[in-house]
Amino acid sequence: MYKIPLAELKEKIISSGKLSSEELDKKIKEKVNELSGLISEEGAAHIIANELGIVLISTAAAQKLKIKEIYVGMKNVSLVGKVVQKFDPRTFAKGENTGKVCSLVLGDETGTIRVVFWNEQVDQLHEVFQDDIVLVNDAYVRENNGNKEVHLGSRGSIEINPKGETVDVVRKSSKAYERKKIEELHDAEDAAEIVGTIVQVFDPRFFYTCSRCAKRVTESSGSFHCAEHGTVDGQLSYVLNAVLDDGTGMIRGVFWKNQTNHLLGKDDVQVAAYKEELPLFEDVKTDLLGEQFKLLGKVHRNEMFDRLEFNVQIVEKANAQEELARLEQQSP
Ligand SMILES: [Zn+2]
Repeated sequence: MYKIPLAELKEKIISSGKLSSEELDKKIKEKVNELSGLISEEGAAHIIANELGIVLISTAAAQKLKIKEIYVGMKNVSLVGKVVQKFDPRTFAKGENTGKVCSLVLGDETGTIRVVFWNEQVDQLHEVFQDDIVLVNDAYVRENNGNKEVHLGSRGSIEINPKGETVDVVRKSSKAYERKKIEELHDAEDAAEIVGTIVQVFDPRFFYTCSRCAKRVTESSGSFHCAEHGTVDGQLSYVLNAVLDDGTGMIRGVFWKNQTNHLLGKDDVQVAAYKEELPLFEDVKTDLLGEQFKLLGKVHRNEMFDRLEFNVQIVEKANAQEELARLEQQSP
């Protein structure tokens, strides 16, 4: 039995038109009583749905599910999502062997979900980057710390940017990125959303990463060396810092490659051009000053400089109307 939250179960049953909300609540109570409290209300709702012939979850083979439709306990799940975040792979000791684990957060218009890859599955992720579309086949869903997690089954696979698959809008969980004022940001904060005006922009810093694992590589006499993969092709990457002010405080936003692209409205090639001609970047900086952005990300403390920084994950132009509506809602 899939673990579907009670509110969603009820919604599905009521939308069948076979019971009203009141009738359903009454039936659930009766069912729990009938079974002497041995089942939960969720369990009762499942039984009622079954008795009424209501299909809670379509189990048609090879059907791609929206992220909202994915529940703990499901098997043979396929889904398509845009890479919202790619975490660095980690290695861990397991007896005498070592294992590898890496995860992605995929999003579609209904939500986001973490997809976890183990051991040799991790190698498939070398070619996956933020904003790529990923099709996951034959996965199963389990619970981890109260969150849903998708894991690849033994026959599981992924396809990167498959033809004909698109995800335009990613619905971000509002709980995960709670709106904060800059003065409210603290160390080791959970994800937050801030809106601020750019008051200072620094030059981008350029460096090279491993084409296989995307970790930073060292460069010597024109060739690149990855700690894990040896001599590799180096891919140009960059990071840009900009200070944001929201009237309550200021914080330095850290924009990695994709986020820099979104911030500047430029692509890889355009940004890379500034590596050779940094003075040209002065105009870009001037244009950014005074612009308002909505940033989703995480706060962390930069130990070297003993200051808080905002590690940006998603960049959007602030929507003036939306911000105004928010202010009006808050005023007494
Ligand atoms: Zn590498």
